[in-house]
Amino acid sequence: MTLGNPLFAGQNPVFIPGPTNMPDRLRAAMAVQTMDHRAPDFADLLGPLRADLKRVFKTETGEVVLFPASGTGGWEASVTNTLSPGDTVLVARYGMFSHRWIDLCQRHGLAVEVIDVPWGEGAPADLFRERLAADADHAIKAVLATHNETATGVVSDIAAVRRAIDAADHPAMLYVDCVSSLASMDFRMDAWGVDLAVTGSQKGFMLATGLAIVGISRKALAAMETAACPRCFFDFRDMLAANAKGGYPYTPALQLLVGLRDSTDLLLAEGLDAVFARHHRIAEGVRRAVSAWGLALCAKRPELQSDTVSAILTPPGFDSEALTNHAYARYGVSFGVGLGQMAGKAFRIGHLGAMTDVTALAGLAAIEMAMRDLDYPIQLGAGVAAAQEYYRATAGETAARAAA
Ligand SMILES: *Cc1c(COP(=O)(O)O)cnc(C)c1O
Repeated sequence: MTLGNPLFAGQNPVFIPGPTNMPDRLRAAMAVQTMDHRAPDFADLLGPLRADLKRVFKTETGEVVLFPASGTGGWEASVTNTLSPGDTVLVARYGMFSHRWIDLCQRHGLAVEVIDVPWGEGAPADLFRERLAADADHAIKAVLATHNETATGVVSDIAAVRRAIDAADHPAMLYVDCVSSLASMDFRMDAWGVDLAVTGSQKGFMLATGLAIVGISRKALAAMETAACPRCFFDFRDMLAANAKGGYPYTPALQLLVGLRDSTDLLLAEGLDAVFARHHRIAEGVRRAVSAWGLALCAKRPELQSDTVSAILTPPGFDSEALTNHAYARYGVSFGVGLGQMAGKAFRIGHLGAMTDVTALAGLAAIEMAMRDLDYPIQLGAGVAAAQEYYRATAGETAARAAA
Protein backbone atom coordinates (compact mmCIF):
# COMPACT_ATOMS: atom_id res chain seq x y z
CA MET A 1 0.00 0.00 0.00
CA THR A 2 1.23 3.50 -0.72
CA LEU A 3 -0.03 6.80 0.59
CA GLY A 4 0.04 9.69 -1.86
CA ASN A 5 1.71 9.55 -5.26
CA PRO A 6 3.32 6.09 -5.54
CA LEU A 7 6.24 7.48 -7.53
CA PHE A 8 7.32 9.59 -4.58
CA ALA A 9 6.21 7.32 -1.75
CA GLY A 10 8.92 7.15 0.84
CA GLN A 11 11.16 9.64 -0.98
CA ASN A 12 10.33 12.62 1.19
CA PRO A 13 11.22 12.40 4.85
CA VAL A 14 8.50 13.11 7.41
CA PHE A 15 8.82 16.22 9.53
CA ILE A 16 6.46 14.97 12.21
CA PRO A 17 7.82 14.47 15.73
CA GLY A 18 7.23 10.74 15.65
CA PRO A 19 7.01 8.26 14.27
CA THR A 20 10.36 9.40 12.94
CA ASN A 21 12.27 8.56 9.78
CA MET A 22 13.88 5.14 9.92
CA PRO A 23 17.48 4.84 8.74
CA ASP A 24 17.84 2.15 6.06
CA ARG A 25 20.18 0.27 8.35
CA LEU A 26 17.52 0.00 11.06
CA ARG A 27 14.77 -0.95 8.61
CA ALA A 28 17.03 -3.72 7.39
CA ALA A 29 17.83 -4.75 10.95
CA MET A 30 14.13 -5.27 11.67
CA ALA A 31 13.66 -7.47 8.58
CA VAL A 32 14.56 -10.72 10.28
CA GLN A 33 12.87 -14.08 9.95
CA THR A 34 10.89 -15.55 12.81
CA MET A 35 13.03 -16.81 15.66
CA ASP A 36 11.96 -18.97 18.55
CA HIS A 37 11.70 -16.78 21.61
CA ARG A 38 11.75 -19.88 23.78
CA ALA A 39 15.10 -20.96 22.36
CA PRO A 40 17.91 -20.51 24.87
CA ASP A 41 19.72 -17.87 22.83
CA PHE A 42 16.81 -15.40 23.04
CA ALA A 43 18.31 -14.53 26.41
CA ASP A 44 21.50 -13.47 24.60
CA LEU A 45 19.49 -10.80 22.84
CA LEU A 46 17.30 -9.66 25.71
CA GLY A 47 19.73 -9.51 28.63
CA PRO A 48 22.45 -7.33 27.06
CA LEU A 49 19.81 -5.16 25.37
CA ARG A 50 18.13 -4.38 28.69
CA ALA A 51 21.53 -3.66 30.22
CA ASP A 52 22.47 -1.26 27.42
CA LEU A 53 19.10 0.49 27.59
CA LYS A 54 19.90 1.29 31.22
CA ARG A 55 22.86 3.28 29.90
CA VAL A 56 20.52 5.23 27.61
CA PHE A 57 18.15 5.97 30.53
CA LYS A 58 21.23 6.69 32.66
CA THR A 59 20.20 4.36 35.44
CA GLU A 60 22.44 1.93 37.23
CA THR A 61 20.02 0.90 39.94
CA GLY A 62 16.78 0.67 37.95
CA GLU A 63 15.31 -1.90 35.57
CA VAL A 64 14.16 -1.51 31.98
CA VAL A 65 11.25 -3.49 30.59
CA LEU A 66 9.85 -3.68 27.07
CA PHE A 67 6.19 -4.20 26.25
CA PRO A 68 4.68 -4.75 22.81
CA ALA A 69 2.79 -1.42 22.80
CA SER A 70 3.12 2.22 21.86
CA GLY A 71 4.22 4.82 24.40
CA THR A 72 0.70 5.10 25.78
CA GLY A 73 1.00 1.49 26.92
CA GLY A 74 4.10 2.51 28.85
CA TRP A 75 2.09 5.16 30.70
CA GLU A 76 -0.57 2.59 31.53
CA ALA A 77 2.03 0.10 32.73
CA SER A 78 3.71 2.72 34.95
CA VAL A 79 0.48 3.86 36.55
CA THR A 80 -1.21 0.50 37.06
CA ASN A 81 1.87 -1.24 38.45
CA THR A 82 2.67 1.30 41.11
CA LEU A 83 -0.61 2.92 42.23
CA SER A 84 -3.98 1.93 43.63
CA PRO A 85 -7.45 3.25 42.71
CA GLY A 86 -8.15 6.35 44.77
CA ASP A 87 -4.48 7.32 45.07
CA THR A 88 -3.79 10.99 44.45
CA VAL A 89 -1.39 12.06 41.74
CA LEU A 90 -0.23 15.58 40.99
CA VAL A 91 0.10 16.53 37.33
CA ALA A 92 0.61 19.73 35.40
CA ARG A 93 -1.13 20.13 32.06
CA TYR A 94 0.81 22.12 29.49
CA GLY A 95 0.05 20.33 26.25
CA MET A 96 -1.82 17.50 24.61
CA PHE A 97 0.44 14.76 25.92
CA SER A 98 0.29 15.81 29.55
CA HIS A 99 -3.47 16.09 29.03
CA ARG A 100 -3.72 12.53 27.71
CA TRP A 101 -1.73 11.19 30.65
CA ILE A 102 -4.18 12.91 33.01
CA ASP A 103 -7.08 11.30 31.16
CA LEU A 104 -5.45 7.88 31.49
CA CYS A 105 -5.00 8.33 35.26
CA GLN A 106 -8.61 9.42 35.68
CA ARG A 107 -9.88 6.40 33.79
CA HIS A 108 -7.89 4.19 36.14
CA GLY A 109 -9.73 5.66 39.11
CA LEU A 110 -6.93 7.82 40.46
CA ALA A 111 -7.63 11.16 42.11
CA VAL A 112 -5.85 13.53 39.78
CA GLU A 113 -4.86 16.98 40.96
CA VAL A 114 -4.25 19.06 37.89
CA ILE A 115 -2.23 22.25 37.75
CA ASP A 116 -3.10 24.03 34.52
CA VAL A 117 -0.17 25.89 33.06
CA PRO A 118 -0.30 28.06 29.94
CA TRP A 119 0.67 26.01 26.90
CA GLY A 120 4.18 27.05 25.93
CA GLU A 121 5.36 26.84 29.55
CA GLY A 122 6.91 23.76 31.13
CA ALA A 123 6.58 21.75 34.33
CA PRO A 124 5.96 24.24 37.18
CA ALA A 125 8.51 23.15 39.78
CA ASP A 126 7.62 25.98 42.19
CA LEU A 127 3.90 25.17 42.12
CA PHE A 128 4.70 21.50 42.65
CA ARG A 129 6.80 22.40 45.69
CA GLU A 130 4.05 24.57 47.19
CA ARG A 131 1.39 21.91 46.69
CA LEU A 132 3.60 19.12 48.05
CA ALA A 133 4.63 21.19 51.07
CA ALA A 134 0.93 21.66 51.88
CA ASP A 135 0.29 17.91 51.65
CA ALA A 136 1.27 17.17 55.24
CA ASP A 137 -0.21 13.66 55.38
CA HIS A 138 1.41 12.67 52.09
CA ALA A 139 -1.79 11.85 50.22
CA ILE A 140 -0.01 12.57 46.94
CA LYS A 141 1.65 9.38 45.77
CA ALA A 142 3.14 10.56 42.51
CA VAL A 143 4.11 13.63 40.53
CA LEU A 144 3.76 13.25 36.76
CA ALA A 145 5.74 15.36 34.33
CA THR A 146 6.14 15.30 30.58
CA HIS A 147 9.82 15.95 29.88
CA ASN A 148 9.31 17.05 26.30
CA GLU A 149 5.78 18.26 25.51
CA THR A 150 5.58 17.29 21.86
CA ALA A 151 2.47 19.41 21.29
CA THR A 152 4.18 22.68 22.18
CA GLY A 153 7.88 21.94 21.60
CA VAL A 154 8.67 22.61 25.25
CA VAL A 155 11.33 20.80 27.26
CA SER A 156 10.95 20.90 31.03
CA ASP A 157 13.58 20.96 33.72
CA ILE A 158 13.07 17.59 35.40
CA ALA A 159 15.99 18.14 37.79
CA ALA A 160 14.08 21.17 39.09
CA VAL A 161 10.97 19.04 39.63
CA ARG A 162 13.06 16.58 41.64
CA ARG A 163 14.50 19.45 43.70
CA ALA A 164 10.95 20.68 44.34
CA ILE A 165 9.86 17.27 45.64
CA ASP A 166 12.95 17.05 47.85
CA ALA A 167 12.58 20.65 49.08
CA ALA A 168 9.05 19.81 50.23
CA ASP A 169 10.52 16.74 51.95
CA HIS A 170 7.82 14.69 50.25
CA PRO A 171 7.98 10.94 49.47
CA ALA A 172 5.96 11.13 46.22
CA MET A 173 7.42 9.23 43.30
CA LEU A 174 8.35 11.03 40.09
CA TYR A 175 6.94 9.70 36.81
CA VAL A 176 8.34 11.16 33.62
CA ASP A 177 7.14 10.87 30.05
CA CYS A 178 10.35 10.96 28.01
CA VAL A 179 8.77 9.58 24.85
CA SER A 180 10.01 12.38 22.60
CA SER A 181 13.23 13.15 24.48
CA LEU A 182 15.02 9.92 25.38
CA ALA A 183 17.90 9.17 23.03
CA SER A 184 17.64 12.70 21.58
CA MET A 185 18.00 15.09 24.54
CA ASP A 186 19.75 14.59 27.84
CA PHE A 187 17.77 12.48 30.28
CA ARG A 188 19.13 11.25 33.60
CA MET A 189 16.95 8.77 35.39
CA ASP A 190 19.12 8.24 38.47
CA ALA A 191 20.52 11.76 38.83
CA TRP A 192 17.05 13.29 38.60
CA GLY A 193 15.49 10.69 40.88
CA VAL A 194 12.98 9.54 38.26
CA ASP A 195 10.95 6.53 39.43
CA LEU A 196 9.15 5.70 36.20
CA ALA A 197 10.42 6.78 32.78
CA VAL A 198 8.40 6.00 29.67
CA THR A 199 9.31 6.01 26.00
CA GLY A 200 8.54 4.16 22.77
CA SER A 201 10.46 2.70 19.85
CA GLN A 202 9.28 5.15 17.17
CA LYS A 203 10.88 8.41 18.27
CA GLY A 204 14.51 8.78 19.31
CA PHE A 205 15.21 5.12 18.62
CA MET A 206 14.15 5.62 14.96
CA LEU A 207 12.27 2.31 14.71
CA ALA A 208 8.79 1.18 13.80
CA THR A 209 6.13 1.77 16.45
CA GLY A 210 5.43 -1.12 18.76
CA LEU A 211 7.63 -1.15 21.83
CA ALA A 212 6.85 0.68 25.05
CA ILE A 213 10.15 1.04 26.90
CA VAL A 214 9.88 1.71 30.62
CA GLY A 215 12.55 2.48 33.19
CA ILE A 216 11.64 1.49 36.76
CA SER A 217 13.46 2.65 39.90
CA ARG A 218 13.99 0.53 43.03
CA LYS A 219 11.40 2.65 44.82
CA ALA A 220 8.86 1.97 42.07
CA LEU A 221 9.67 -1.75 42.25
CA ALA A 222 8.81 -1.64 45.95
CA ALA A 223 5.55 0.20 45.20
CA MET A 224 4.71 -2.54 42.69
CA GLU A 225 4.32 -5.04 45.52
CA THR A 226 1.38 -3.22 47.08
CA ALA A 227 -0.18 -1.39 44.10
CA ALA A 228 -3.78 -2.49 43.64
CA CYS A 229 -4.66 -1.21 40.16
CA PRO A 230 -5.70 -4.19 38.04
CA ARG A 231 -3.16 -5.18 35.41
CA CYS A 232 -2.39 -8.33 33.50
CA PHE A 233 -0.74 -7.76 30.12
CA PHE A 234 1.33 -4.93 31.59
CA ASP A 235 2.17 -6.57 34.90
CA PHE A 236 5.78 -5.69 35.75
CA ARG A 237 6.00 -8.72 38.04
CA ASP A 238 5.32 -11.20 35.22
CA MET A 239 7.64 -9.33 32.88
CA LEU A 240 10.51 -9.10 35.38
CA ALA A 241 10.15 -12.72 36.47
CA ALA A 242 10.23 -13.94 32.88
CA ASN A 243 13.06 -11.56 31.90
CA ALA A 244 15.14 -12.79 34.84
CA LYS A 245 15.05 -16.24 33.25
CA GLY A 246 15.90 -14.81 29.84
CA GLY A 247 12.34 -15.05 28.55
CA TYR A 248 9.06 -13.26 28.04
CA PRO A 249 5.62 -13.70 29.61
CA TYR A 250 4.13 -13.85 26.09
CA THR A 251 5.30 -13.50 22.51
CA PRO A 252 7.81 -10.66 22.29
CA ALA A 253 7.92 -8.21 19.37
CA LEU A 254 11.08 -9.91 18.19
CA GLN A 255 11.76 -7.87 15.05
CA LEU A 256 11.49 -4.67 17.07
CA LEU A 257 13.81 -6.02 19.76
CA VAL A 258 16.37 -6.84 17.07
CA GLY A 259 15.95 -3.35 15.64
CA LEU A 260 16.32 -1.84 19.09
CA ARG A 261 19.53 -3.80 19.57
CA ASP A 262 20.98 -2.14 16.47
CA SER A 263 19.58 1.29 17.27
CA THR A 264 21.05 1.17 20.78
CA ASP A 265 24.39 0.09 19.34
CA LEU A 266 24.32 3.06 16.95
CA LEU A 267 23.45 5.55 19.69
CA LEU A 268 26.02 4.28 22.17
CA ALA A 269 28.73 4.11 19.50
CA GLU A 270 28.07 7.71 18.53
CA GLY A 271 28.02 8.64 22.21
CA LEU A 272 24.94 10.10 23.91
CA ASP A 273 26.51 13.54 24.24
CA ALA A 274 27.21 13.59 20.51
CA VAL A 275 23.62 12.47 19.84
CA PHE A 276 22.31 15.37 21.95
CA ALA A 277 24.67 17.86 20.29
CA ARG A 278 23.56 16.65 16.87
CA HIS A 279 19.91 17.20 17.78
CA HIS A 280 20.69 20.62 19.18
CA ARG A 281 22.42 21.69 16.00
CA ILE A 282 19.60 20.57 13.71
CA ALA A 283 17.03 22.21 16.00
CA GLU A 284 18.95 25.46 16.17
CA GLY A 285 18.97 25.72 12.36
CA VAL A 286 15.19 25.29 12.36
CA ARG A 287 14.86 28.00 15.03
CA ARG A 288 17.00 30.38 12.94
CA ALA A 289 14.60 29.77 10.06
CA VAL A 290 11.57 30.48 12.25
CA SER A 291 12.93 33.82 13.35
CA ALA A 292 13.92 34.71 9.78
CA TRP A 293 10.29 34.13 8.82
CA GLY A 294 9.28 36.55 11.54
CA LEU A 295 7.28 33.82 13.26
CA ALA A 296 7.33 32.81 16.91
CA LEU A 297 7.72 29.50 18.67
CA CYS A 298 5.06 28.27 21.04
CA ALA A 299 7.81 27.76 23.68
CA LYS A 300 7.75 30.95 25.70
CA ARG A 301 11.44 31.23 26.58
CA PRO A 302 14.70 30.02 25.02
CA GLU A 303 15.44 27.56 27.83
CA LEU A 304 12.11 25.85 27.11
CA GLN A 305 12.88 25.24 23.43
CA SER A 306 12.92 21.59 22.53
CA ASP A 307 15.69 20.11 20.43
CA THR A 308 13.37 17.45 19.03
CA VAL A 309 10.33 19.41 17.85
CA SER A 310 9.52 23.04 17.13
CA ALA A 311 5.91 24.21 17.40
CA ILE A 312 5.54 27.37 15.36
CA LEU A 313 2.66 29.80 15.84
CA THR A 314 0.97 30.87 12.64
CA PRO A 315 0.18 34.58 12.24
CA PRO A 316 -3.34 35.68 13.24
CA GLY A 317 -5.83 34.77 10.52
CA PHE A 318 -3.73 31.88 9.15
CA ASP A 319 -5.02 28.37 9.85
CA SER A 320 -2.16 25.96 10.54
CA GLU A 321 -4.38 23.03 9.59
CA ALA A 322 -4.77 24.46 6.08
CA LEU A 323 -0.98 24.83 5.90
CA THR A 324 -0.13 21.27 6.89
CA ASN A 325 -2.88 19.92 4.62
CA HIS A 326 -1.56 21.99 1.73
CA ALA A 327 2.06 20.92 2.29
CA TYR A 328 0.96 17.30 2.19
CA ALA A 329 -1.38 17.59 -0.79
CA ARG A 330 0.87 19.76 -2.97
CA TYR A 331 4.37 18.65 -2.01
CA GLY A 332 3.87 15.30 -0.36
CA VAL A 333 5.53 16.37 2.88
CA SER A 334 4.12 15.80 6.36
CA PHE A 335 4.50 18.33 9.15
CA GLY A 336 2.98 18.07 12.62
CA VAL A 337 -0.48 19.56 13.05
CA GLY A 338 -1.50 21.77 15.96
CA LEU A 339 -2.85 19.60 18.78
CA GLY A 340 -5.50 20.48 21.37
CA GLN A 341 -5.39 24.19 22.21
CA MET A 342 -2.89 24.62 19.39
CA ALA A 343 -5.23 23.22 16.70
CA GLY A 344 -5.27 25.68 13.81
CA LYS A 345 -2.79 27.93 15.59
CA ALA A 346 0.53 26.14 15.29
CA PHE A 347 2.30 23.67 13.04
CA ARG A 348 5.20 21.55 14.14
CA ILE A 349 8.47 20.55 12.59
CA GLY A 350 9.78 17.33 14.06
CA HIS A 351 13.57 17.18 13.99
CA LEU A 352 14.45 14.14 16.02
CA GLY A 353 16.03 10.88 15.12
CA ALA A 354 17.55 10.36 11.70
CA MET A 355 17.66 13.94 10.46
CA THR A 356 20.62 15.68 8.88
CA ASP A 357 21.17 19.34 8.11
CA VAL A 358 20.42 18.54 4.47
CA THR A 359 17.10 16.88 5.19
CA ALA A 360 16.16 19.67 7.60
CA LEU A 361 16.81 22.20 4.81
CA ALA A 362 14.49 20.26 2.50
CA GLY A 363 11.73 20.48 5.09
CA LEU A 364 12.26 24.18 5.62
CA ALA A 365 12.18 24.76 1.85
CA ALA A 366 8.97 22.76 1.51
CA ILE A 367 7.11 24.56 4.27
CA GLU A 368 8.28 27.90 2.87
CA MET A 369 6.73 27.01 -0.48
CA ALA A 370 3.51 25.99 1.25
CA MET A 371 3.45 29.22 3.28
CA ARG A 372 4.03 31.33 0.15
CA ASP A 373 1.27 29.46 -1.68
CA LEU A 374 -1.07 30.46 1.15
CA ASP A 375 0.11 34.09 1.22
CA TYR A 376 1.96 33.97 4.52
CA PRO A 377 3.90 37.21 5.00
CA ILE A 378 7.27 35.53 4.62
CA GLN A 379 10.07 35.89 2.13
CA LEU A 380 10.74 32.78 0.08
CA GLY A 381 14.17 31.46 0.98
CA ALA A 382 14.60 33.56 4.11
CA GLY A 383 14.28 30.68 6.56
CA VAL A 384 16.31 28.33 4.41
CA ALA A 385 19.11 30.90 4.11
CA ALA A 386 19.21 31.50 7.86
CA ALA A 387 19.43 27.78 8.51
CA GLN A 388 22.04 27.36 5.77
CA GLU A 389 24.25 30.00 7.38
CA TYR A 390 23.99 28.29 10.73
CA TYR A 391 24.61 24.83 9.31
CA ARG A 392 27.58 26.09 7.26
CA ALA A 393 29.11 27.70 10.31
CA THR A 394 28.66 24.62 12.49
CA ALA A 395 29.18 21.76 9.99
CA GLY A 396 32.79 21.29 11.07
CA GLU A 397 31.68 20.51 14.60
CA THR A 398 29.86 17.37 13.57
CA ALA A 399 32.55 16.38 11.06
CA ALA A 400 35.22 16.78 13.73
CA ARG A 401 33.19 14.69 16.14
CA ALA A 402 32.63 11.99 13.55
CA ALA A 403 36.37 11.84 12.79
CA ALA A 404 37.32 11.72 16.47
C1 LIG B 1 4.52 10.24 21.03
C2 LIG B 1 4.30 10.61 22.45
C3 LIG B 1 3.60 9.79 23.35
C4 LIG B 1 3.12 8.41 23.08
O1 LIG B 1 2.35 8.22 22.04
P1 LIG B 1 2.11 6.80 21.42
O2 LIG B 1 1.40 7.16 20.17
O3 LIG B 1 1.28 6.01 22.35
O4 LIG B 1 3.44 6.14 21.19
C5 LIG B 1 3.50 10.19 24.66
N1 LIG B 1 4.04 11.32 25.07
C6 LIG B 1 4.72 12.14 24.27
C7 LIG B 1 5.32 13.37 24.84
C8 LIG B 1 4.87 11.82 22.93
O5 LIG B 1 5.56 12.61 22.11
